[in-house]
Amino acid sequence: MKNAVFTVALAVALAGCGSGEHSPAPAAPEPGPPRAAAPAKAEPSRQPVHHVNINPQPEPAAKAVQPIQHEPIMKPTKVAPAKIVKTEAEWRATLTPEEYRILRQKGTERAFTGKYDHHFKDGTYVCKACGTPLFLSETKYNSGCGWPAFYKSIDNTVDVMRDASLGMVRIEITCKKCNGHLGHIFDDGPNPTGLRYCVNSASMDFIPAGKKPGAAK
Ligand SMILES: [Zn+2]
Repeated sequence: MKNAVFTVALAVALAGCGSGEHSPAPAAPEPGPPRAAAPAKAEPSRQPVHHVNINPQPEPAAKAVQPIQHEPIMKPTKVAPAKIVKTEAEWRATLTPEEYRILRQKGTERAFTGKYDHHFKDGTYVCKACGTPLFLSETKYNSGCGWPAFYKSIDNTVDVMRDASLGMVRIEITCKKCNGHLGHIFDDGPNPTGLRYCVNSASMDFIPAGKKPGAAK
């Protein structure tokens, strides 16, 4: 008996399913299983994964968006030294022809001929044209290239710019104050900077340690 009832019930159910295809009204919402509201210890390992997938809350990526900080562009930068501007005639009057050729016409002294190539006394190297201190003796080294070499300049005294003359691209260095040509800078220097300021002796004067710049000439 029981079996018969069961079978009938089943048949009805199946029939219902079949005919209900067109109107799936009652069976529609079936959020039963996933809800598993309070499963005491229901597969704790799978739970998290489920939660991650289901949880509609987006990753807290929005949190990462940092407010745009306006950089303090107006940093207390050092005031650039005023440029020294002279006419070419004035430069010619204060420089020797060789100095003028190098400093004002971007010339280069012959290798191994400059007076500071192998000069290693303590002191400061200043711009021959305007007296601005450019390099300290402790940053000078013997590069063997034939010109005085430094791995560092005194801060804010040397300008660098691209120089594509003579069929090659180099980085020219000039005195920031008078624009006088000093030489070129290369990246084959020693530590700590890895730079080589290759400078014409004729572009510089030397102030021995203990004497103040200005007493140069
Ligand atoms: Zn200068």
